[in-house]
Amino acid sequence: MITLQDIFGQDQAVGTLLRAYRADRLPHGMIFAGRVGVGKATAARGLATLFLCESPKGERPCGKCDSCVLMSVGNQDGSSNHPDFHVIYRQLIRLEKSESKARDLPVNVIREFLIGPASRSSVKGRGKVFVIEEADLMNPQAQNALLKTLEEPPGRTLLILITDQPDCLLPTIRSRCQIVRFASLDEKVVQRELEKRKIAKQPAGEAADLSEGSLGLALRWIEDGVVESARELLKQVDGLVDGRPPAIDLQDFFKKAADAYAEKQLERDNKSSKDQATKEGLGLYLRLAATRLRQHLPDVSGDAELAESCCAGIDAITRAEGYLDSNVNVPLTLQQLAVSLEQQLVRA
Ligand SMILES: [Zn+2]
Repeated sequence: MITLQDIFGQDQAVGTLLRAYRADRLPHGMIFAGRVGVGKATAARGLATLFLCESPKGERPCGKCDSCVLMSVGNQDGSSNHPDFHVIYRQLIRLEKSESKARDLPVNVIREFLIGPASRSSVKGRGKVFVIEEADLMNPQAQNALLKTLEEPPGRTLLILITDQPDCLLPTIRSRCQIVRFASLDEKVVQRELEKRKIAKQPAGEAADLSEGSLGLALRWIEDGVVESARELLKQVDGLVDGRPPAIDLQDFFKKAADAYAEKQLERDNKSSKDQATKEGLGLYLRLAATRLRQHLPDVSGDAELAESCCAGIDAITRAEGYLDSNVNVPLTLQQLAVSLEQQLVRA
């Protein structure tokens, strides 16, 4: 069973929730905002366990009642067998239309899995909790459909919207919810947690560094081989800053790494869009390369020309990222990027 007290590194967010719970003033609508993988979904589950418990002991669920037992059986997709705990995620779309690719949260999913059940009475009599994952993926129609339920939720109801991009939610949604902010974790905390999970020191350190304080991302990137590919990429970036030409074909590297990334996403969820996943993968490796260049800036500040070249390299990467968003020819974009990085940084 997950309790709020189990969540580490989020004292402020957890404190806010527990104070509101203690005062019996939990808002109906809440937005859990913060980076991917810092404990938002876990906190939502912990809060739901407490909220639905039939005989909570202070700020902790009893762990013994029917509700607690049902909540402690977790499914991989974050849902549970508790009939009053509803997790809404984009893959539910598959139940609607088997052919559609799950890219957003359309209004029919919100109607069927949230608005409908919210209007019925709770099965166990303690109320209902709805968690919307990646809530920013709700299109405006879906968000508008949600407004009424947010305003006057029937009975004892909690609605928790999870997002790493709260600004993408409509102002009308934001104004009806309390925003609970989740901080990025300290990299040392992430590394320690990874090592606790039997991950060796070196990859744990690399993953903690790459993910910049997201345990969830660090774990996923270790599992998906991102950490390994990133190690190769960063070595090449470091070489470029030293003026050496890359030892590998960068264009080819980006393509292969993005394909491998997409493959993992599809293994995890075969309804993901391959195209979208490949772009996400490219975006990820481009960002990692840009971050590495940025990390070199303080070291090269004594060499104005080199610092300028690094900045030009970062600009070239940012441009490439922008092109990916606008559906241009991907191989061409990568080729141009590889050429301009070499032109900027490699010295004869
Ligand atoms: Zn209980």
